[in-house]
Amino acid sequence: MHFNTFALLSATAVLAAVNEPCIGSGGRAGVCLSTSSCASSGGVTTTGACPADAADIKCCTKASCENTSAGNCRWQSDCGGTSVSGQCPGPAQMKCCSSAATGFGGYKAPAFPAVGACQAVAVNGAKKVVAAWPGRVRQIYCTRDCSCPGTSDHCCGKAIDFMCSDAGGVPTMSGREIAEWVMNNRGTLNLKYVIWGQRIWNPSVDGVKAWTSWRAMEDRGDVTQNHWDHVHVSFN
Ligand SMILES: [Zn+2]
Repeated sequence: MHFNTFALLSATAVLAAVNEPCIGSGGRAGVCLSTSSCASSGGVTTTGACPADAADIKCCTKASCENTSAGNCRWQSDCGGTSVSGQCPGPAQMKCCSSAATGFGGYKAPAFPAVGACQAVAVNGAKKVVAAWPGRVRQIYCTRDCSCPGTSDHCCGKAIDFMCSDAGGVPTMSGREIAEWVMNNRGTLNLKYVIWGQRIWNPSVDGVKAWTSWRAMEDRGDVTQNHWDHVHVSFN
């Protein structure tokens, strides 16, 4: 969990998020790479699929591994089988998964914060999200060591980070469905805004639409700060 100010949202020039997740052709999990790096590893590129991408940074996918097994290239945190290195484009966490099965989760239910410093609206919202997506959320974080009002809704106990990856800093595609569910349940959650995968959705300014069409955010520098390992939800 990092503690950037959300004031950065509007002002900073958007940059590519190289080596971070994307959704490429056929809905496959991909990685944002230069077109040359993708080609050299046998992948195919999809234009416009990397949030805030530079011209030469595109979503690289590879439908089958080099060993011609039944496996395919995906983020290790999304692999229900054995992950093998050295056969896929991008960073080390992008591996050949032995299982063709899709799906996420299997985690034990996370502990919920007590109502207090973490506001009731946030605790209640956290329980609703976890109930809707059993096995997906690994940990829940609410408050931070900052005074309210502060630079983040976490400072006032009105935001939750839903960790849905194998570990902090490990990218996953798991949070997209959670984030879109949060959008669709904005009323019952008393939603202020939701962030997933370097994109933000705010019910006061955005219409309901797929995550891929949410507003792109600037590159904050790493997987966690770009929300590829957790869904951030702010509550009113
Ligand atoms: Zn957060």
